[in-house]
Amino acid sequence: MTDLLITGGTVVDGTGAAPVRADVAVTGGRVEAIGDLAGRPAARTLDASGHAVTPGFVDVHTHSDLTLLSGPEAHSAVRQGVTSVVVGNCGLGVAPVAADPAALRAAAGYLDLDPAVRWTWSDLPGYLAALDAARPSVNVAALVAHIPLRAAAVGFADRPAGAAELDRMRGLLGDALAAGAAGVSTGLVYAPACYARDDELLALGRTAAEHGRLFAWHVRDYADGLLDSVRQALAVASATGCRTQISHLVAVGRRNHGSVARALDLIDDARAGGADVAFDVYPYLAGNAPLSQLLPDWAQEGGEDPMRGRLADPDVRARVADEWRDMPLTWDDITVSRVPDGPAGSGDGDGEAGGAIVGRTIAEIAAAAGTDPSRVALDLAAEHGNGVQMIAAGRGERDLLDALAHPAAVIGSDGQALDPDGPTGGGAPHPRSYGCFPRLFAEYARRPGGLPLAEAVRKCTSAPAERAGLADRGVLREGAVADVAVFDTERIADRATFASPQRFPDGIRAVVVGGRPVVEDGVHGGARPGEILRIP
Ligand SMILES: [Zn+2]
Repeated sequence: MTDLLITGGTVVDGTGAAPVRADVAVTGGRVEAIGDLAGRPAARTLDASGHAVTPGFVDVHTHSDLTLLSGPEAHSAVRQGVTSVVVGNCGLGVAPVAADPAALRAAAGYLDLDPAVRWTWSDLPGYLAALDAARPSVNVAALVAHIPLRAAAVGFADRPAGAAELDRMRGLLGDALAAGAAGVSTGLVYAPACYARDDELLALGRTAAEHGRLFAWHVRDYADGLLDSVRQALAVASATGCRTQISHLVAVGRRNHGSVARALDLIDDARAGGADVAFDVYPYLAGNAPLSQLLPDWAQEGGEDPMRGRLADPDVRARVADEWRDMPLTWDDITVSRVPDGPAGSGDGDGEAGGAIVGRTIAEIAAAAGTDPSRVALDLAAEHGNGVQMIAAGRGERDLLDALAHPAAVIGSDGQALDPDGPTGGGAPHPRSYGCFPRLFAEYARRPGGLPLAEAVRKCTSAPAERAGLADRGVLREGAVADVAVFDTERIADRATFASPQRFPDGIRAVVVGGRPVVEDGVHGGARPGEILRIP
């Protein structure tokens, strides 16, 4: 007997093929049949009349590395239709653990919303085993992040890696890829990854290429230096042949609006030359990052503690403030979204003084205090280090539309699986963690001239699954894993806003992971059938 029969819906299979009216039968966690299956005996039936039945969304760009251990129900992800997430993006990651675990944990402060999560692992297999033990509601694949690799091999100093250190990084990366990691990621604004020279990035690219895995790039600069930064990633792609993913392609700062089209020209040229290059994007006009990302590389040297100490020096503060004078963003563009409760830990995200500043711009906080905005930002970074998060606006919709329309664009939220009622529920997070995928359909597919439904679904399913190397996922066909989203194409919409981000979306009828319903009619039933995906 069939385990689960999803009846009466319109199947959008994830490949970009036209929607068709069909039932979907699921048995043993796999799609058993698709077609007119009326009368087929089934243990459970799910009525999808009037709804689209699609593969579950594959979120190729997340920072849920630690939040899944805090809240394995993955509420904010699965309730928007996400069934698989890729962690370890932007060079930020948790394995392998370096000689100084506390320094690595501080460097990954952006991921670290719940101080109660214990780091029980030393390497990627150990981290994947911790995920196995947590039994998340969604499937998880992991990239190996550059920060832990460099922290282990070189430490936190601003200097080139020596030959033996490059070998050590390649060895650690190769081991993690052999253990099933989906690829490697870098984040060239975050210490110590920002100290990598070209030879180091080439070494990572070569190792990724040897294993046929992805190299994901948070490039050096998304503002004035966007095009040169994209060129750097493409040069490594062409020199090494590695599969390449540009993370969250965007142009930051009003003076750079329009640059995305030029970056796409570079990507098109590389693709025409045979490079396997794509990119991800999320449908919002603001980003989210650690506030310390604004600091120059030299100010972050040595790790979080030296950085915080340095920011007490008046000469250092004057020098940073001087560099900030030419920043592409204004202090009105930057809103404080999270402040940890203690200097080294994170609590409810509102901070000791955070209640007064979370949700307000740096400019507003400075005006209220009668002080200079750069002083506010320096004080926050000095007091709380990498745990202070910001929402950064100043992006243009034309750039977003150009990126979304490109055939190589896939959707990646850049968000985190959060639980509004748990330790990860504090602060004022970017609404993408709750509404990224519904927002794509509501704002960029349903509008006149928007993405066709089948193409929007492809960008959320088979295309990102292919980037991450997830076989038999992201498509609905006989034999594929039964990760399924059922939603109302007229009603699906994000409800999370910047002012009120902890809101689940509308229009999601059901979310099925590995053949088991996890969400029905907006209610998470508590099932945790996610698999930890090791790429063979
Ligand atoms: Zn990211």
